[in-house]
Amino acid sequence: GDLGPEQRGLIISHFGRQVDVEVLEGEHKGEIQRCHLRTHLGQLVTGDQVIWRRTADSGVVVAALDRHSELLRPNNQGELKPVAANIDYIVIVIAVEPYAHANLIDRYLVAAEASQIEPVLLLNKADLLNDDNRDRLEALLDQYWTLGYRTLSASTSTQHGLDELKALLADHISVFVGQSGVGKSSLVNSLLGTDIKTGELSDLTRKGRHTTTTARLFHFPDGGDLIDSPGIREFALWHMTEDQVLQGFRELAALQGHCRFRDCRHDQEPGCAFLSALDDGKISEQRFHSFQQILNSMQDSR
Ligand code: GDP
Ligand code: ZN
Repeated sequence: GDLGPEQRGLIISHFGRQVDVEVLEGEHKGEIQRCHLRTHLGQLVTGDQVIWRRTADSGVVVAALDRHSELLRPNNQGELKPVAANIDYIVIVIAVEPYAHANLIDRYLVAAEASQIEPVLLLNKADLLNDDNRDRLEALLDQYWTLGYRTLSASTSTQHGLDELKALLADHISVFVGQSGVGKSSLVNSLLGTDIKTGELSDLTRKGRHTTTTARLFHFPDGGDLIDSPGIREFALWHMTEDQVLQGFRELAALQGHCRFRDCRHDQEPGCAFLSALDDGKISEQRFHSFQQILNSMQDSR
């Protein structure tokens, strides 16, 4: 049949061999068009920019544009596969409660670094800060700020910090990750200005006959986009090589190659650059223990 002209689009969700494409140009800009995929395109994911053409009854994606980043997750075979594209920030949400474990933050950071996407550490429920917990949480944020990560605090209850967060997220594509109960849904709802409940989100992901939909893209009213799915929120640590774990610890990766022995385990070896940096207080004990723990958990899961 007749095909319309080639035009740019943005994949906002996908359903097996079909995708929903947001029209990015022309009189239908902003509309959503269900499209089929030409077969040679490889796996397209939410966040991908594409070239598509209108057909008599729907649309067809004819080309995919290059991605600047990929959020990776392992499939059932353990291969890392993209689940979303062109993400700029992985917002790691922690909260005054439930208790923020530094080790869990480190796990998210390792995963973010493995995807080569900038992590942002966001402390939510700042309204619950008090004399008993403030020092610890400020020191925790400070530790990551010192390592070069962006840190923010916010409260969806008092709206504290939300303007700064909106300004950061404008013109970027973000995902929110973090353990259950830290306030991801509340944050997302505040930022979107609508009530995208987890239930609605999973309804969206069940839409259509195909159940393989992974993620959906939403626009923030003040600019920027969110890609969200229950799976992405649980994005944590899967099996990774020792080197990937090491690259997730910036300050340790910087010491790579400085140990006396090439195969140093950074455990008891003489001339270990990690252990001497630890002795000198140049790296934190907490971070070093996280590193060892994550490496050990990789070994156990093998
Ligand atoms: P999620 O599991 O990460 O999506 O967390 P939710 O958004 O469901 O929030 C978990 C609980 O924390 C809910 O009872 C929220 O009302 C509450 N909550 C969310 N944000 C804040 C906040 O800024 N301050 C306080 N005190 N509670 C909050
Ligand atoms: Zn060493």
